[in-house]
Amino acid sequence: MLNADLHCHSSVSDGTLTPEAVAERARRNGVDLWALTDHDEVGGQARARAAAAQHGMGYLTGSEISVTFIHQTVHIVGLGFDADDASLVHGLAHTRGGRERRARDMAAGLARAGIPDAYEGALKFVGNPDLISRTHFARYLVEAGFCSDTHEVFRRYLTEGKPGYVEHRWATLSDALKWITGAGGVAVIAHPGRYDFTPNEEFALFTEFKALGGQGVEVVTGSHTQAEYLKYADMAQEFGLLASRGSDFHDPAESHTDLGTLPPLPKQLNPVWEALEHRIHRP
Ligand code: AMP
Ligand code: MN
Ligand code: MN
Ligand code: MN
Repeated sequence: MLNADLHCHSSVSDGTLTPEAVAERARRNGVDLWALTDHDEVGGQARARAAAAQHGMGYLTGSEISVTFIHQTVHIVGLGFDADDASLVHGLAHTRGGRERRARDMAAGLARAGIPDAYEGALKFVGNPDLISRTHFARYLVEAGFCSDTHEVFRRYLTEGKPGYVEHRWATLSDALKWITGAGGVAVIAHPGRYDFTPNEEFALFTEFKALGGQGVEVVTGSHTQAEYLKYADMAQEFGLLASRGSDFHDPAESHTDLGTLPPLPKQLNPVWEALEHRIHRP
């Protein structure tokens, strides 16, 4: 099987490695087709594509867009788009725009819980000043000794109802899909198993996504259990969606799934990369 890894992050969003270092690690792990999917950003795409070419890997452009759907944050991965498309670039810039204010509010919440100067602390971990995320706060709280790992920080401080959590309105599903498909790309629902939807809400997400021109779903991802591979393989077939595979790698120590190491897609599914053949940059 082609070893495709179509979901991961660099220091252009909340990963810790440069796009070049992610490319090198992907290749070393046997990846044949790669996409760097930084959150709400395409700033690393030219570097990623050049690095992929240098290592003899196929490359698809990528980004993971933050969307609000029924009061929850849903991630939509765009693949194979034109990274210079004006409406995509503008839409992503607008989506990133609220992060600064949100980060200041998160820091205020953390200060009330006895953790001072978290904004300044998080900034030390930020690779792209435009993209401060909860992950950067998590790394700071570990460094400052409040928690022993980033998962604990999320559990105790950064998820709904916790002191550093701030309600935020991201892009609409409709806008995210317009930006991706308008730029010639394919939209994929990222890690559906991670959301807290009821079965009816999840059905609404898939139905609306499909109606808006969405074409794919991540089935095999670092965020899914084996049982979820099977569940979302069924959902892909039920909704006539293409299937994607991606580690969601962020950092060698933090991420439990390394680049290119996931099991293959279940055989009955249609891989999203077969529909994106014409969009693959070949070395
Ligand atoms: P943000 O876009 O600022 O809300 O940050 C979301 C990012 O936080 C995700 O893309 C993950 O990288 C990370 N994240 C979310 N939940 C957790 C968790 N429970 N443990 C570790 N990292 C998490
Ligand atoms: Mn992330
Ligand atoms: Mn995600
Ligand atoms: Mn991700």
